[in-house]
Amino acid sequence: MKIFNTLSRRKEEFIPLEPGKVRMYVCGPTVYNLIHIGNARPMIVFDTVRRYMEHKGYEVNYVSNFTDVDDKIIKQAIAEGVDSTVISERYIAECKKDMEALNVKPATTHPLATQEICGMLDMIGTLIEKEHAYVAADGTVYYRTRSFKEYGKLSHKNIDDLRGGNRALLVSGEDQKEDPLDFVLWKPKKEGEPYWDSDYCKGRPGWHIECSVMSKKYLGDEIDIHAGGEDLIFPHHENEIAQSEAANGREFAKYWMHNAFLNIDNRKMSKSLGNFFTVRDISEKYDLQVLRFFMLSAHYRSPLNFSADLMESAKNGLDRIITAAENLKFLLQTAQGEELAADEAKLFEEAQMYVTQFDAAMDDDFNTADAIAAIFDLVKWSNTNVNAESSKALTEAVFAEMKELADICGLIIDKQAEMLDADIEKLIADRQQARKDKNFARADEIRDELLNKGIVLEDTREGVKWKRA
Ligand code: AMP
Ligand code: ZN
Repeated sequence: MKIFNTLSRRKEEFIPLEPGKVRMYVCGPTVYNLIHIGNARPMIVFDTVRRYMEHKGYEVNYVSNFTDVDDKIIKQAIAEGVDSTVISERYIAECKKDMEALNVKPATTHPLATQEICGMLDMIGTLIEKEHAYVAADGTVYYRTRSFKEYGKLSHKNIDDLRGGNRALLVSGEDQKEDPLDFVLWKPKKEGEPYWDSDYCKGRPGWHIECSVMSKKYLGDEIDIHAGGEDLIFPHHENEIAQSEAANGREFAKYWMHNAFLNIDNRKMSKSLGNFFTVRDISEKYDLQVLRFFMLSAHYRSPLNFSADLMESAKNGLDRIITAAENLKFLLQTAQGEELAADEAKLFEEAQMYVTQFDAAMDDDFNTADAIAAIFDLVKWSNTNVNAESSKALTEAVFAEMKELADICGLIIDKQAEMLDADIEKLIADRQQARKDKNFARADEIRDELLNKGIVLEDTREGVKWKRA
């Protein structure tokens, strides 16, 4: 499996730090509003990377944060006259709903910046001790950028060509910095802002430190993959490397993956430019599976322009796959023969070639555009080669293959069989209510209904837990 590594600007063979395991960190959204479809691109792309790695047999530890303390959240809280946690909690919940509708798996851990302040202060302390950071007169802590000799290695920038003036440098007190390139690790609170006590001042963390700390805590000093949108290469990821490698004395991440932008009218879709659609807007017109399919129809490192026409063709493309899968299911209602018929072994070999084609595309830096082309080829093949005369064994095998490839892309082609998390939780709540009402027959009926769909319930002291069997 080859991955394009931003660090080397080359495709490299993927060799995990620990055999069979992948430790992966994806920078998540700042939660002050509903996510827009640009934010959904890294979610969908890296969820697909994760699914493919799991399909290959890797155990993936996938961490993705929510930035829940930030100027934009505070601004929104002030505008609504509420505490900033009201804003962040609201939009984390909304973001999780969108992720579910996009069939993005929940991360192994979704850490929150506000819950990790202790770890951030620890790392800041280490950086000061190692003289990679210093405290200014007002209690702001700055990272001494020039002290990290490899600064610029990810973005391929020469430190002497850099000027101050990026998002992190503008935060406060340019004049108290030793060097305009230094960036903020900790900054004093302003009136009405959330803050934490520290040895330096009552204040809050800079943005970059949170990812260094959460990645270390949940995945260890060294990880396999760190990912996000390409706007994060500089300064965010460059600064994360400077912090983590200076503090831990180890290489931070082996492979750096960045998705290109989702554009609209050939300009980046962003909240600040005001040219965006939220995922929720799109869900009013389309099943969000169509949006997922649209995102995967391009390679993740190619810019993708959003348009109504492309969404329509994504819808048609996805419908073609779903129709082929439904045809196979229809044939299965009457198909006979538990074994492949004599002339079918060769046919099935043909069908399996599309799996090889799919894997080859995914092994080549997750080329989902070509992988989807392989699914289309399988669909075409299935439409011409599987019919009412085919054995049940062949029909089933082709259906299973189509479903497996779609699953890797996170595309649901067998809707009736899939129960969404929200439906499961609704049934669990109904069961709890039935038990309260002493309607045990109904409670058992719900348990059986879930079991039939492969959902196993477990009553624990903390409440009902469920898993897919
Ligand atoms: P933010 O909330 O702005 O920090 O963004 C969260 C994630 O979405 C980051 O990985 C960004 O790089 C990514 N992102 C934001 N806008 C776009 C876009 N138009 N296209 C692709 N990725 C984006
Ligand atoms: Zn980050």
